[in-house]
Amino acid sequence: MLDDFYLEQDIAYKTLINSVKNNKLSHAYLIETNGYSKSLDFAVAFAKYILCPNHYNNFENCKDCHQCENINKNEFLELKIIDPEGQWIKKSQLEELQEEFSKKSIIGDKKVYIINKAEKLNISSSNSLLKFLEEPEEGIIAILLTENKNQLLNTIISRCQNISLKKQNNLDNLSTFEKISHLLNNNIEDINNYILDEENKIKLEKTIEFIEYYETNHENTIIYMNKLWHDYFKERTEIYNSFTIMLLFYKDLLNDKLNRKITVFNEKLELIKKFNKNNNINSLTSKINVIMDLREKIKFNANANLLMDKLIIKLERCEIYDRSNRSNI
Ligand SMILES: [Zn+2]
Repeated sequence: MLDDFYLEQDIAYKTLINSVKNNKLSHAYLIETNGYSKSLDFAVAFAKYILCPNHYNNFENCKDCHQCENINKNEFLELKIIDPEGQWIKKSQLEELQEEFSKKSIIGDKKVYIINKAEKLNISSSNSLLKFLEEPEEGIIAILLTENKNQLLNTIISRCQNISLKKQNNLDNLSTFEKISHLLNNNIEDINNYILDEENKIKLEKTIEFIEYYETNHENTIIYMNKLWHDYFKERTEIYNSFTIMLLFYKDLLNDKLNRKITVFNEKLELIKKFNKNNNINSLTSKINVIMDLREKIKFNANANLLMDKLIIKLERCEIYDRSNRSNI
């Protein structure tokens, strides 16, 4: 799902989500992978987001359309992935694609093709692709992935919306605090400055304490908001960062629930297990969405801290919704 990438590839993630939300879908995207190992997964997740009539981008599968289901099973005819055959992507592969895509869609009104390793296009296949891009047909969307944009024809590059993925850092051996610094900052200098500032470590702990208090005491958190929150978080940037830490924490709770690897909070495994006794996949997914939505509002709110009561109320709704769901079973 596209949401799996909202932290590692926040800029590309936002650009693509907004292009769909604002109805400004390009007919061709060129994604420079920069060594990001999950770039094909990213492209497929984006294709799925385009093709799903609900534009579902959540962590869980959309259970409401044929598109999502068939893409998961690798059986969806309106999504085609082209890989190099041997040394090159051949002209015949492009011709076959055009032939297939000239037929009307069986499901939905869009078709997407992904060209993996587009730098492997040779002259004749580049020209075939170019013709396809020059006369964009309604509803056909191209996603080109490349390690090296410079090996593509300029005429291809200029016909695509260009997107660049972030280099991947291997964070496995770092402490939780160091990992967070890497995820919050974009360059080495900022990463190091963040780590050197003891205040940031305190803020990380206070954020976790806040979540701990909330997960234990729920709506009562509002009464103690000053002590729990306002005394420590004042500036918009620190509130925003703290929301990102919350997101990472809940994402790890979800990882634990789904038996996936804990990515950031390995040091808090006990706490994760404890909170997960009272959470399920639904409540965690809803909580992540609530935090993500409110985090966006921080940027535009004159007094970002007013959002904190709202946060608790909305998180509680995820719980209530969930409890009532459970009692219905
Ligand atoms: Zn769907």
